[in-house]
Amino acid sequence: MKIGLRIDVDTLRGTRDGVPNLCRLLARQSIKGTFFFSVGPDNMGRHLFRLLRPSFLKKMFRTKAANLYGWDIIFKGTLGPGPIIGKKSENIIKETACAGHEIGLHAWDHHAWQANLDKMEENTIENQLQKGIKSLEDITGYPPVCTAAPAWKCNDRTLNVKAGFCLKYNSDCRGQSIFYPIVNGQRLVQPQIPVTLPTYDEIIGQKNITKKNYNEYMLSLLKPDRLNVLAIHAEVEGIACFDMFEKFIKTAQARGADFVPLGNFLIDFAIIDCAKIIKKNFPGREGWISCQSK
Ligand SMILES: [Zn+2]
Repeated sequence: MKIGLRIDVDTLRGTRDGVPNLCRLLARQSIKGTFFFSVGPDNMGRHLFRLLRPSFLKKMFRTKAANLYGWDIIFKGTLGPGPIIGKKSENIIKETACAGHEIGLHAWDHHAWQANLDKMEENTIENQLQKGIKSLEDITGYPPVCTAAPAWKCNDRTLNVKAGFCLKYNSDCRGQSIFYPIVNGQRLVQPQIPVTLPTYDEIIGQKNITKKNYNEYMLSLLKPDRLNVLAIHAEVEGIACFDMFEKFIKTAQARGADFVPLGNFLIDFAIIDCAKIIKKNFPGREGWISCQSK
């Protein structure tokens, strides 16, 4: 059974501390994955502040957010502009690419995308993608082959803009199978490889799931005959939950699972579905996220 391993990197701390931890683990276990980097300003603190609503506070408490992310992430960007992640961690991104992992763009400004996407005009979206792609190309020597929309937020406008870039695929939503997105009745050419499994912050503390039984729960969700795509965060599984994630990887491998970069699935799955991408509220998550329609 193959499991697509997608590593989202949202912040400077995640890049600086989480990515090297994960790269060492993946090297030890002979695994290659897909890293989606955020390379522009780290304004994630601003995002967390904006969300200081009761339901969000409850989630922060449930997930023990300060332990999970660190106070520096929570406050980053709340005072003055955040640091440019790509500039501050060029070497780490380059080493990740040299280690043979697939490199994708997560965001130029993760916070701006997440907070303002619905208000963004096409030229703003294009500008965000252009800056992120150029930055990764300058660092690694080649453009990223894929993108993953921050916070699983995309819309028809972003899909149309992405179609103008040279990308093998995108991973912008949750879903069940690889598919071509339908926008205004037209089938776009870049396939979507959706995330099929829930993330740590969505399920920890829900349905009696604790750090003790988290791995077994996740393993129980794997489907040998279907697409399995796992999304982890450099800030979470790469730092605060590193030991637990290491156990997850080793247990899954011992049971015959093979972790692969998402792009590998494009070779395996000859039949690709067509589907619309719709907005849905998702358990354990604030606001809407993009999902493959059934
Ligand atoms: Zn993210």
